[in-house]
Amino acid sequence: MISVQSRQFQQIAVLGLGTSGLATARALLSGGAEVSVWDDDPNARKEALNENIALANPATIDWTGQDALVLSPGVPLTHPTPHPAAAAARASGKPVIGDIELLFENASGAKLVGVTGTNGKSTTSALIHHVLQFANITAQIGGNFGPPVLSLDPVLTTTTVVLELSSYQLDLIDKAAFDVAVFLNLTPDHLERHGDIDGYAKAKKRIFRNPRGAQQVAVIGVDDDYGMAIASELSEKDGWNVIRVSACQETPNGIHVIDGFLTDQEGKSFDVSALGPLRGKHNWQNVAAAWAVARTYNITSEKIAASLKTFSGLPHRLETVAKINNIGFVNDSKATNVEATSHALALLDDIYWIAGGVAKEIQLATALPHLNHVRHAYLIGEAAEEIALELEKIRIPVTHSGDLYTALKEAHADAVVDDLPSPVVLLSPACASFDQFSNFEQRGDYFRRLVLSLAAGHET
Ligand code: ADP
Repeated sequence: MISVQSRQFQQIAVLGLGTSGLATARALLSGGAEVSVWDDDPNARKEALNENIALANPATIDWTGQDALVLSPGVPLTHPTPHPAAAAARASGKPVIGDIELLFENASGAKLVGVTGTNGKSTTSALIHHVLQFANITAQIGGNFGPPVLSLDPVLTTTTVVLELSSYQLDLIDKAAFDVAVFLNLTPDHLERHGDIDGYAKAKKRIFRNPRGAQQVAVIGVDDDYGMAIASELSEKDGWNVIRVSACQETPNGIHVIDGFLTDQEGKSFDVSALGPLRGKHNWQNVAAAWAVARTYNITSEKIAASLKTFSGLPHRLETVAKINNIGFVNDSKATNVEATSHALALLDDIYWIAGGVAKEIQLATALPHLNHVRHAYLIGEAAEEIALELEKIRIPVTHSGDLYTALKEAHADAVVDDLPSPVVLLSPACASFDQFSNFEQRGDYFRRLVLSLAAGHET
């Protein structure tokens, strides 16, 4: 655990008692702050009670003596409406920050690598961490992916910390800055929390908000208009070394992957298409970004290439779970938006597609160019009706399965009857999971369990 010395003797309120909120409270207490904590859910307050941490509702406390509110990223800061605690702190002129800010204040010796974007953050963060470790560079990973940042190993002086940063987390930084800031891509997502796409883009851009040292590195995916514009803007600013990365076009002085071949700034090339766990153009963007970061550590191209070959991929992202006879089963539960699902559909063929959940934006017919790869769709959750209407317009057969258990059973049965050479039952929902599951991990784990039990010859 990191001891937050920067807030010694201050009075800090912490709102949100999930794993990161509890880790924040412990780290603040260990650094000598006076801490009160709260969660609107009484169940979530139990652990704090067990640990004898003072409870106080920051929406109703007297803010005069308080120094700051530390908010969990899941708590609304501005949209749809600010949480009353955030409103109260701000009305008293007190800062509202997140745990990334506290890490920054207490990690002066560490090198911070921040990774953001709509899709690919976890994969790219994990990849950067993997490549650094392969090259014997001491590195830890945390943030939106991995452990809460304040529970990391406190020996930070000679360490790199790789941080996956969501837009919610970036909204809660103030002075935090990153030695290397990676911006992968931007498409509509989480608009309910940011008002509109411009609000969302603004939050993501905060990764470049503050200076750190004489020379900062910005690794920017330039395959969408937002990335292009940010790269041009930062190139004009002093102190930034901008490295453009792309999975579809040449980037002078940058790194690009075209037709599966990565070319770096020195003209070295590498066959990315042979990397099984990183298949697909979307992953080539992630690889190019990780490559760019690794080169800033002077890791040789040969070593980076060797490390990429040993990366095993992350669960819930195009994870091949099993093959039963000739039928493949792929868990892409992390595809919680249409853009992420589009990559799975592009890559696979003869798909028996399980989709649905809580829709973020449904315009499948226009947003998904590879719907012709879908043989049949099995719809679950709240968004089923809406998705069915879209699919029926373009004559894709639809079954209203309702839940994941039924969807898998029906998809498997149809794939067996159709008897195509290499069909795939794909869970790539294009929706959030919260109507039927706690999170995407629970949804993917359930799918995997059902498939493995099917493979073992048991009834699902
Ligand atoms: P994040 O952490 O940003 O949600 P992940 O690496 O967990 O990203 O991947 C989430 C989903 O997005 C997966 O379905 C994955 O296949 C897809 N994906 C991964 N990288 C990219 C990318 N660079 N562009 C678009 N989609 C991607």
